[in-house]
Amino acid sequence: MSNSGRVWTVLTMLEWATTYFGEKNVPDPRLSIEWILADALGIKRLDLYLQYDRPLSSAELEKIRPLVKRRAAHEPLQHITGTTDFMGVTINVTPDVLIPRIETEQLTDLLLERTKHQKEKPLRLLDIGTGSGCIPVAVKQKRPEWYCAGADISEKALTVARENARLNEVEVYFFRGDIWNLAGIRSEGWDVIISNPPYITEAEKKSMHPQVIEYEPSQALFHDDPVKLYRKIIEFAAEQNARLFLECNQTTAERVAKIASLFFNNPELLKDLDNNNRFVIASDGVTNVTP
Ligand code: GLN
Repeated sequence: MSNSGRVWTVLTMLEWATTYFGEKNVPDPRLSIEWILADALGIKRLDLYLQYDRPLSSAELEKIRPLVKRRAAHEPLQHITGTTDFMGVTINVTPDVLIPRIETEQLTDLLLERTKHQKEKPLRLLDIGTGSGCIPVAVKQKRPEWYCAGADISEKALTVARENARLNEVEVYFFRGDIWNLAGIRSEGWDVIISNPPYITEAEKKSMHPQVIEYEPSQALFHDDPVKLYRKIIEFAAEQNARLFLECNQTTAERVAKIASLFFNNPELLKDLDNNNRFVIASDGVTNVTP
């Protein structure tokens, strides 16, 4: 990108950066430069294709250059552009929150699907470990009658979550809450509990992409004993007589489903799009037997 005198166009930038990112082992090289260019030029990604011959001014190049550098260092695209899409809702992301994953969209879809007959009923939903607030913000958009809330241990995450509710013009209640210390919110009578808690163990860290380890909050990803955490959430949901929707690690989802079966009727263990055990959901009521 440094060769002086060269006239850059949208197309030559796309081509050059795709090769450059490829050499740097950046994931999704073409898509990366497409998002960066669209963001820097303030246009939709697909509109780049209509503007291939558009020359890039030196002011635009000044804007693009540092973004390309950040991506070449494997910084997540969503941190560079500052936003991502979650179920059609624009969500701000910062290094203080987990970047919403497609699996979590699937979990939220399951929740909407399993409760669709109660669309107009004002159910009370709590997301435990809400991070960016993507789940309750998206649900509130689709279920305006519901009371949606999100708890997180991180104040910094809550700031991002509140901002996301404001940007999307929905009312969602966010509060500081720790899975181990939910006492203050017990009386609220939740109808639906959803959670994507930190579920990766230290032993699994080695196999993770550096982009995740270096740039995303470890508090949102790692836990010494995720199964213990799930048991706590399951017990809490059972106490509330709430429906339960959990995203799990593929290595522990079966164990989580077994624990859920101690408290709930017919919990289901469902797979993600990659065919891995990923979700445990219980929407058929709690058992009468105390385990
Ligand atoms: N699915 C995320 C990942 O693989 C982990 C999310 C979590 O720990 N809750 O990076």
